Amino acid sequence: MPTIHWFRRDLRLADNPSLVAAVEAARRADDEVVALFVVDPTLWSAAGAPRLAYLARSLRALDEATDGRLVVRRGRPADVVPAVAREVEASAVHVTAATEPFGRRRDDAVERALGDVPLVPTGSPYAVAPGRLRTGKGTPFEVFTPFRRAWLDHGWSAPAPRPRSVPWASLPSDGPPAAPGTDVDLPRAGEAAARHRWAAFVADDLARYPTDRDRPDLDGTSTMSVPLKYGEVHPRTLLADLTGGSAAVASYRSELAWREFHADVLWHRPDASRTSLRDVVPDDAWASGPSADALFDAWREGRTGYPLVDAGMRQLRAIGWMHNRVRMVTASFLVKDLHLPWQRGAAHFLAWLVDGDVPQNQLNWQWVAGTGRDAAPYFRVFNPVLQGKKFDPDGRYVRQWVPELRDVPGAAVHEPWRLPSGAAPDYPQRVVDHATEREVALEAFGRLR
Ligand code: FAD
Repeated sequence: MPTIHWFRRDLRLADNPSLVAAVEAARRADDEVVALFVVDPTLWSAAGAPRLAYLARSLRALDEATDGRLVVRRGRPADVVPAVAREVEASAVHVTAATEPFGRRRDDAVERALGDVPLVPTGSPYAVAPGRLRTGKGTPFEVFTPFRRAWLDHGWSAPAPRPRSVPWASLPSDGPPAAPGTDVDLPRAGEAAARHRWAAFVADDLARYPTDRDRPDLDGTSTMSVPLKYGEVHPRTLLADLTGGSAAVASYRSELAWREFHADVLWHRPDASRTSLRDVVPDDAWASGPSADALFDAWREGRTGYPLVDAGMRQLRAIGWMHNRVRMVTASFLVKDLHLPWQRGAAHFLAWLVDGDVPQNQLNWQWVAGTGRDAAPYFRVFNPVLQGKKFDPDGRYVRQWVPELRDVPGAAVHEPWRLPSGAAPDYPQRVVDHATEREVALEAFGRLR
């Protein structure tokens, strides 16, 4: 009997333990492996155009890697997966375990619908499966540093070998889906492109990572968030290359540990994808109505009059990615300067980020908003001007994304209101005054305390 490997967030052949399990079971039965991908209308309609366009490209790359045998079917997984299992009389359906609320519910429904055919989860998109680590008291971790310590102590297995000459089954396929058009400039998709980018990062940039990673004006980060989101590469593969005790290795590992921490938090608190884990200001402190909508529009279109914020929001719109430091500044600005709930900003990010990922996006927003686990304290309000001067000292990042400021030299670009009149005539005025809004935010915080 053949087996099915149902690809979801693991669009790769190397270091894919679930695929290895599917191939081994098929070989034992001297049979074939069905490479299945299901286009789920619920997920498809909820994802932004940049993510769909990237996913479609990644599926084309996977189709090539499987000798054109990727079987793409459209419909509800609870209907499609059992139908394919019946069609080929599969012995089992192998998957990389889903760990997020939506995926867990979907898999429960698919497992029920499969009846006698087992749904076999092997591995997860993380080095250590969410939910596995516990504190000494047996409770979920609430603080990052002890979580990271436990995560490092626990460790992970070596990357799984890439199966050779897989006997892929040949089945009718709807073909990789046509994605909606997007003007976002996407990175190259697929496992091979991800491996290539990672190797270049390790060779050229990793040593400078601890100092360069906070600088949006430098190309100092790995951009691995995108392939990690789609599972074109597994974090275990990256961790296997991070050997030795250098500061660079420790720093990169620590960032991956944040990814695992957020997934763990969401495992224990699925409601954290929508709801604040703690309140920081009274409900009446949040802005609403037409003036709040106008501020939200200015934020998402990069017209706040604060250059670092506007550069970030325009980078997001142009390439579907934003530097981490600027994600923090733009998110803080939305919550603490514009007094808008984090969920509104998070939804906009999810619509445009190619790496848009529920655990990472929602939990990072909660971190910035001060509502999450081990979050930045609410009273720590990012100053967009000081952040600009510190992390984009020559103003290069701002000039790259804000053409109205392209002729302003050096760090002066971070305070266009101090320029001689007429120096940047097309750049918008500030929509709010940061110093004033900071006080408003702190006053609201004080009221709740
Ligand atoms: P690198 O600096 O090269 O980091 C290496 C890897 O470590 C990243 O690929 C990522 O997997 C992980 N990592 C780094 N920083 C973080 C972090 N703060 N939290 C969790 N993992 C991290 N990341 C996403 O993958 N998807 C999202 O939807 C997302 N939304 C975010 C929203 C906000 C408001 C903020 C502040 C951060 C968000 N992040 C998100 C985290 C982080 O900004 C990105 O992972 C990072 O910018 C990706 O670029 P990189 O791969 O070059 O990072």
